[in-house]
Amino acid sequence: MNRIKLLTPRLANQIAAGEVVERPSSVIKELLENSLDAGATRLDIDIEEGGIKLMRVRDNGSGIERDDLPLALSRHATSKIYELDDLEAVATLGFRGEALASISSVARLALITSTNDDASGWQAVAEGRDMETDVSPAPHPRGTTVEVRDLFFNTPARRKFMRTEKTEYNHLEEVVKRLALSRFDVAFNLRHNGRMVYAWRAGDSQLEQERRVAQVCGPAFMENAVHIDIERNGMRLWGWVALPTFSRSQADLQHFYVNGRSIRDKLVGHAVRQAFQDVLFNGRHPAFVLYFELDPSTVDVNVHPTKHEVRFRDNRNVHDFIYSSLHHALARVTPEDTLAKSA
Ligand code: ADP
Ligand code: MG
Repeated sequence: MNRIKLLTPRLANQIAAGEVVERPSSVIKELLENSLDAGATRLDIDIEEGGIKLMRVRDNGSGIERDDLPLALSRHATSKIYELDDLEAVATLGFRGEALASISSVARLALITSTNDDASGWQAVAEGRDMETDVSPAPHPRGTTVEVRDLFFNTPARRKFMRTEKTEYNHLEEVVKRLALSRFDVAFNLRHNGRMVYAWRAGDSQLEQERRVAQVCGPAFMENAVHIDIERNGMRLWGWVALPTFSRSQADLQHFYVNGRSIRDKLVGHAVRQAFQDVLFNGRHPAFVLYFELDPSTVDVNVHPTKHEVRFRDNRNVHDFIYSSLHHALARVTPEDTLAKSA
């Protein structure tokens, strides 16, 4: 038998990275979520070669204190929860304190940040087996820029799993779209290989929300969609559902958010499918952008590192509410209700 040894921090981080950093789009998800958690109202995303070469996210959020920088890049270090009780009703997208440590163990990560408006800031880079953080002064307006280059440069086995630039870019764009639909009040600018792909302005009125949904999901979706908003027993379901006539051959236009977090959940999926069953032909898929809100202490988001799944305390009530809300809304709508007709 070999002797037992502690993993080096870098190796421990690389193992953890296996769970959260699958491809460039997973990096972008973590970076954007951090920016949103920091209260940013504007996100500038710069991508080169589908993210394989470079991903840069610049935000105007809170920034990070100089003395916290080494911790920001360490595993199990977070500013978002301090005790178990906080986990019961977590309001931020992140809380595991793993993303930056994981990413910086499998890519070249540089972080520049400032907590004030005098244009002075700090740059941090974590390197070596022990992942010691090197901090030096660097100019930056209030906010944070995280730059990730050469993903998986030191893990050839993982690198092999990356697909073409085009495929990786498509995944990444999907992540940006999902997040853009979760925060109408935040501006998103996405650039790929120096070309501006999307520039979505911030705005939270229903009109501005619908403008964003049309930008993200395509104008045809919005023209064929009805707005719904149903509230019962402390639960609320709102958003846009396309008429059955706008059904799809693939499940490619389905966005479901639980308390602002994009999720893919079996129970939710079942309730939605059931509601559409009566109005859709076999093999057709519904299109929707839906927001489900409920008491955060009745949902567990700490089910999986990527947080795509949730657990509800009261499965039955949640299923019934989603199913019956959608079922009734769909039974009532006619083509005259769509925005195209009412415009
Ligand atoms: P988590 O988001 O789970 O806390 P991360 O590894 O993603 O863990 O980030 C570690 C910490 O670094 C965060 O808790 C936060 O304090 C800080 N941080 C990361 N990104 C940003 C950002 N863009 N703006 C401000 N603080 C950030
Ligand atoms: Mg995070």
